[in-house]
Amino acid sequence: MNLRFLLVTVLALFLTGCSRQAASRSESSQTIPSQIEFALSTICQITLYDWGEPRIYQDIFSRIKEIESRMSLYLEGSELDQINRAAGIEAVRVSADLFEVIERAVHYAELSGGAFDPTVGPLVTLWDIGGDNPRVPTQEEIDAVLPLVNWRNIELNRENQTVFLTQPGMALDLGAIAKGYAGDEAAAIIKKARVPQAIVNLGGNTLAVGEKLDGTPWRVGIQNPLEGRGAYIGIVQTDEISIVTSGLYERYYVADDGTHYHHLILPSSGYPAQSGLLAVSILTDISMDADALSTAVFVLGFDEGRALVESLDGVEAIFVLEDRTVRLTDGINFTLTDDHFTLVID
Ligand code: ADP
Ligand code: MG
Repeated sequence: MNLRFLLVTVLALFLTGCSRQAASRSESSQTIPSQIEFALSTICQITLYDWGEPRIYQDIFSRIKEIESRMSLYLEGSELDQINRAAGIEAVRVSADLFEVIERAVHYAELSGGAFDPTVGPLVTLWDIGGDNPRVPTQEEIDAVLPLVNWRNIELNRENQTVFLTQPGMALDLGAIAKGYAGDEAAAIIKKARVPQAIVNLGGNTLAVGEKLDGTPWRVGIQNPLEGRGAYIGIVQTDEISIVTSGLYERYYVADDGTHYHHLILPSSGYPAQSGLLAVSILTDISMDADALSTAVFVLGFDEGRALVESLDGVEAIFVLEDRTVRLTDGINFTLTDDHFTLVID
């Protein structure tokens, strides 16, 4: 991934209403209100309100980097890279972390009828949207890799913790789910350290951890998909939750003829999904689930995506459609603040 595109990676805006940024837990202990590092091909910001001891930040970032070293498609020698290199040859034994994420990815592939498919690797490489050499592949090139994109050709052996890609040339890409898992792991460290209130933001995947100290709900800004980072269309009020947005504005490539190609691919066609959505935000307890679902629902589009979300307990969604309407599932407290959009309640 290259930095140019990371600059357009969206960080959902948190409106915390918390004015005390760096009050210390004890007079003597040094605290840091917030720390930012670059990992998982994106900008990771952790904010530990009133409790930001350097050791906790270190623990969180080293865990995030450990996850990256296992799950990145772009780090040579990562566990994921080893699975991909052994495609069509042999099964590879992996860490419990990676096995769990791949298992969950396969679950969402099945649930979404293949709209979410972790074997999109060969297509992602071909388009290279957000990478150093993005381009529009020829139909022949797409046709050549399409048979390699099929989550049913992932063989998982739970007992041995092994993963086998049955066809040579297959490649897993966990870009749509690994950040979510990393967010959950960061939240687990925060809770274990008994930090009462924190925000984890991994390139727009956000987790509100704990209760706000003043007892009010978290207020989370939902990114405006037509504007740069920081502009938001409205505000969600919520208790402890993860919110993950997938949108066509995050990484895209403008071809010579002016056509925009974004990074969310319809696995059945091999082209960027034209689903009528500008963005979708998923709210649920587990960030890994929100991450996989945000990609799945974006690719499915509004009608099928909403049906999928409504079939799941404890999952809510905010849809931003190309016609600039905003639609919600039932359990959301959302206030639209940008009058370029219209809230439609069915
Ligand atoms: P982001 O990572 O930009 O926040 P997503 O979570 O939606 O957004 O993940 C997008 C990434 O997932 C792409 O960059 C690509 O690596 C991968 N991907 C693209 N299309 C699909 C798909 N249909 N199923 C699974 N992964 C996908
Ligand atoms: Mg995702």
